[in-house]
Amino acid sequence: MSLPSPDHRPSRTPSGRPRSFPGSGLAKGLAVTLRTMTRKSVTAQYPDVQPDLPPRTRGVIGLFEENCTVCMLCARECPDWCIYIDSHKETVPPAAPGGRERSRNVLDRFAIDFALCMYCGICIEVCPFDALFWSPEFEYAETDIRELTHERDKLREWMWTVPEPPALDPAAEEPKEIAAARKAADKLAAQQAAAAPQPPPVSTADPTDAQEGT
Ligand code: SF4
Ligand code: SF4
Repeated sequence: MSLPSPDHRPSRTPSGRPRSFPGSGLAKGLAVTLRTMTRKSVTAQYPDVQPDLPPRTRGVIGLFEENCTVCMLCARECPDWCIYIDSHKETVPPAAPGGRERSRNVLDRFAIDFALCMYCGICIEVCPFDALFWSPEFEYAETDIRELTHERDKLREWMWTVPEPPALDPAAEEPKEIAAARKAADKLAAQQAAAAPQPPPVSTADPTDAQEGT
């Protein structure tokens, strides 16, 4: 079977698009090259220039140990099972004589294996005590995979790289904790003002009037 000569080819492709003339693809490619060459380069010169990352970047996870109550929620919810927590119980003596002894969890180990972590952020979302935070830091590549398990001391160090939270929207509703504290402070101030001794009433009568009457 012979192919149709270029003069007798249909003017449209089977998909309905106009058939292009030979060499038009090359011309288009050269036009794109020329256009790109005259534009300003957008290549980031990392690592000479650090990238300007948005504050919510998921780089690494920081642990604010003081807030952690060892509730294990993060470790249970982590889809990759890459959070390792060890703890023991400690008995706390009663706060007042005759009170009851209490027990509390003491953290022994908190580690995250970043070789397994998929940066889903579930652990941070579920932590009820605000003990885990995202840091935009990302320069912690290692040549030994075991080094990617960050223990609690390292996780605490990442806390220093966590950016400050953004300022509240001025039109936002006041948080209920602050509203309750403000209400209590106002009530206390009103009670103190009512209990304070009142100054004696100042007489407005002219003393010379009394002398003239005698
Ligand atoms: S970000 Fe996701 S995968 Fe990584 S430790 Fe948290 S819950 Fe696990
Ligand atoms: S969920 Fe929060 S408080 Fe509970 S163990 Fe994890 S980090 Fe600690």
